[in-house]
Amino acid sequence: LLEADGSARATIFAEMSALATRTGAVNLGQGFPDVDGPQTVARAASDAILAGVNQYPPGPGTPALRAAVAAHQRTRYGFEVDPDTEVLVTTGATEALAAAVLALTGPGDEVLTLEPYYDSYAAVIAMAGATHTTAPLRPTPDGFLLDVEALERAVTPRTRLLLLNSPHNPTGAVLRRAELEAVARVARAHDLLVVTDEVYEHLVFGVEHVPVATLPGMAGRTLTVSSSGKTFSFTGWKIGWVTGPAELVAAVRTVKQFLTYVSGAPFQPAVAHALTDPEALAWVDGLVTSLAERRDLLCDGLRDAGFDVVRPDGTYFVLADAAPLGAVDGMAFCRDLPQRAGVVGVPVSAFTREGSPTHEALRTWVRFTFVKRRDVLEEAVARLRAAF
Ligand code: PMP
Ligand code: GLN
Repeated sequence: LLEADGSARATIFAEMSALATRTGAVNLGQGFPDVDGPQTVARAASDAILAGVNQYPPGPGTPALRAAVAAHQRTRYGFEVDPDTEVLVTTGATEALAAAVLALTGPGDEVLTLEPYYDSYAAVIAMAGATHTTAPLRPTPDGFLLDVEALERAVTPRTRLLLLNSPHNPTGAVLRRAELEAVARVARAHDLLVVTDEVYEHLVFGVEHVPVATLPGMAGRTLTVSSSGKTFSFTGWKIGWVTGPAELVAAVRTVKQFLTYVSGAPFQPAVAHALTDPEALAWVDGLVTSLAERRDLLCDGLRDAGFDVVRPDGTYFVLADAAPLGAVDGMAFCRDLPQRAGVVGVPVSAFTREGSPTHEALRTWVRFTFVKRRDVLEEAVARLRAAF
């Protein structure tokens, strides 16, 4: 977690957002929306504050939010969880993932993730004292695809946990049912626990999101993590949750109580409302439609500017290869991009392990977010076209 000289390492998102602020560049780096979620949901939170919902809520989360999470899984996926024993509210998905890895793994265990991977995974695996192993997602004309054979080859007798993520940050890949069935076969064959990060579960464009917990033989070994931040465009509220078998959820709760104890009291009734209110869910459908349009705007613009682009099926990120523009190193390219084009992106190398085959393969790739207003994206595209 430290730089080579011992100084504290800032996350790549913090570094690149600071660069955008300093240079006045259009920030397509850190993934957060520049338009807030539904006003009715915001009002539910402010009403809760004014009504005095301001002291410690119950440790596992309020009964209403746990019931809403269970109802959401039942109506959306036909999947049943017991709101009393199989749902835990957390401080964002980040805490759910950290508490799960800390609860389930330790020194001597291997945690297998996809690569590239969301940056907090490597950090929490290190905090747990476990060893991080990976299986690659590779760019193809059909999008980024998981090499399931490489995944199975990466499993050893020490592999304890498979940490999945679909829809996937940073590639925007949405694992297909066939890919997930193959992964599930590996998990069952090697008796692995699975933690699956599904924070972008709603943000898919014309493809199906399949929760891995719904596949045969998986419910008993899988913890599913999600969050209100991406679905409802309130990333600063930090209300997430984890669902799964009671004994695994209890283990995560034991860790969570010493990380944060409880999570944001007035936001819990607001998120409970959002998960069950038809109007709020219709708002999410509108977000998805508009995100698909903004994805196309950004992908087409990046392609016109000379990048090679893999159009994503989900999330709010697109990966683009800057090699055709002469880049040899994505990090150097991104540090230079504000000067050169007035735009900020994130080097994909930040989501890889130094020296890994994926690190080398994606060395010149950059992640851009399209969860920004159309006019912001149009400005970014115009700048990139002018610069290259
Ligand atoms: N997992 C992934 C894949 C993410 O992209 C994010 C958000 N950046 C998180 C987890 C963290 O979610 P939260 O803000 O709810 O902690
Ligand atoms: N999840 C967001 C991203 O991937 C940002 C989260 C963060 O800043 N840690 O860009």
